[in-house]
Amino acid sequence: MKLDGKVCVVTGGARGIGRTIAEQLSAAGAEIVYALDRETARFADLPAGIQGVELDVTARDQIESFVEKLIAERGRIDVLVNNAGITRDGLVHKMSDEDWDAVVSVNMKGVFNMARAVGPRMMEYGAGSIINISSVVGLDGNIGQTNYSATKAGVVAMARTWAKEFSRKGAAVRVNAVAPGFVNTEMIQSVPQKVIDGITGKTPLGRLGEPHEIANTVQFLASDASSFITGQVIRVDGGLVV
Ligand code: NDP
Repeated sequence: MKLDGKVCVVTGGARGIGRTIAEQLSAAGAEIVYALDRETARFADLPAGIQGVELDVTARDQIESFVEKLIAERGRIDVLVNNAGITRDGLVHKMSDEDWDAVVSVNMKGVFNMARAVGPRMMEYGAGSIINISSVVGLDGNIGQTNYSATKAGVVAMARTWAKEFSRKGAAVRVNAVAPGFVNTEMIQSVPQKVIDGITGKTPLGRLGEPHEIANTVQFLASDASSFITGQVIRVDGGLVV
């Protein structure tokens, strides 16, 4: 699963799963990994080979100038990992417009914004791999996550659409989604222990996932080892739904 010489972009790449993905792609031989994130303080301890870039995936102008500059410097983007995501949980009848809009804006429109800018560049180059980070709750639903689960279903639908759209004119641009189960990061620190115990109790492997276990699947989909896989969603959930 080598990524020798590949130019990679990971959104939300300075923390949590995104950071682990950035580190693994870099360790697998990527020419460079751009870790796009909102909080520049997190860039201070990024390892060599990973370049932090202050960018909000909801800001189209920031994305367009980043992509222009990157293409001018490197000539191509080989891998895009759409990882940035947020939660604003609540039962549907208590969910505010603000919480709905915030989650849709980052988790779904942010992915759209990135692919709209990067997909055509990959097509021009003739190859590329886009990986959307979904979630099992986008496939199965979850109480209190109407907004989040809708967006995570949306990024699977977008992956399937782009698998068809970005492979036109002979371009080998592959687009897939990864659906993690519950993973040990800051994002789930607000989830009550009782709920975590319920989830691990239902998981055949009996524990939460670790970020590197998601990154392993992303690395596979980013690499040429998955050269005939596109339009798919791969669950990485310890068997939560079997
Ligand atoms: P974290 O909250 O730990 O990290 C997410 C990163 O994305 C943060 O650095 C965050 O910055 C950044 N980010 C958020 N919004 C934006 C934005 N608008 N533009 C750029 N960067 C942004 O989350 P995880 O690592 O846990 O999750 C990563 C992905 O995996 C998400 O898409 C999540 O939905 C998905 N996932 C996570 C699971 C889990 O159990 N942890 C399970 C299933 C899927 P900031 O701190 O400023 O918000």
